[in-house]
Amino acid sequence: MNHTHTTPWVLGLTGGIGSGKTAAAERFAALGVHVVDADQAARWVVEPGQPALAQLAEHFGPGILTAEGRLDRAALRARIFANAEERRWVEALLHPLIGQAIEQSLASATSPYAIYAAPLLVETGQRRGARRVLLIDVPEALQLARTQQRDGASEAQVRAILAAQASREQRLAVADDVIVNDRDLAWLQHEVDRLHAFYLSLPGGPA
Ligand code: ATP
Repeated sequence: MNHTHTTPWVLGLTGGIGSGKTAAAERFAALGVHVVDADQAARWVVEPGQPALAQLAEHFGPGILTAEGRLDRAALRARIFANAEERRWVEALLHPLIGQAIEQSLASATSPYAIYAAPLLVETGQRRGARRVLLIDVPEALQLARTQQRDGASEAQVRAILAAQASREQRLAVADDVIVNDRDLAWLQHEVDRLHAFYLSLPGGPA
């Protein structure tokens, strides 16, 4: 037990597809802030050796594993697609494990605050105790262009994802702080540095 360790407060980081969350999170990490990524946690709980992967294989059969013993996501999706009961079973298994992984990692941070990076923070309402929420906001035209370029996707593909996500207005309603990522990467980093100085000035301790 380390008695000098104070639990950091949590900053939620969110934004739509291609808004620049990853670029912002990388800058925070370079400044020494502990970053926990919701998507990474969701992948980690079904890595080989994790109990959940064995439970999935026991429930659905070895057909949901690849030859290397990893989760075959397409095979699992096929099993739970159009089967609400099976989908709920998977969610009931994985959601608590993902939550535990995120909370343990956040609590282990030695930085004054830790970041919970969650693309769907607004959609799910799952804040993991975040005291503030930082939104990376971007005009839709730039969001489309950057995502198409990064993913080699068509405009229609990106628009379909946009339509399934929360709107800018819904995100802005939840955000405490906003970076409008409509200039170059150097400027995004500069804005992150400015907010980091502000976050360090806030009183610490758990929410
Ligand atoms: P997703 O939710 O889809 O994972 P994201 O919010 O993490 O996206 P990034 O991957 O950080 O977004 O950014 C999307 C793309 O736009 C990347 O290729 C990134 O390098 C680029 N990008 C981000 N910010 C800027 C900027 N200010 N200027 C130029 N390119 C940028």
